[in-house]
Amino acid sequence: MTTPSINLLSGAIKYIKATIGVGLEKEDVIKKRYTICEGCEHMTKQKKFLSQTNVELKKLGKCSLCGCFLMKKIVLKNEKCLDGRW
Ligand code: SF4
Repeated sequence: MTTPSINLLSGAIKYIKATIGVGLEKEDVIKKRYTICEGCEHMTKQKKFLSQTNVELKKLGKCSLCGCFLMKKIVLKNEKCLDGRW
């Protein structure tokens, strides 16, 4: 079963790929990273907001180890988790 957050991520990935198209990871890798970061104690400032359909969605915040914005970090090729989780 997919969550609203994963569905949101799929849409965001397609948008970014269509816009930029280069240097991005495969969708399954990005989703795996999202799930790992979502449950990590180093992930901060997770935001909750309502979509246009009033479904609550979650957007990853920053990583307290590397300081990166995770919604950008997880989609880029050659990025690594400093804690070795992905
Ligand atoms: S990049 Fe690594 S350390 Fe940072 S939030 Fe994600 S899993 Fe945690």
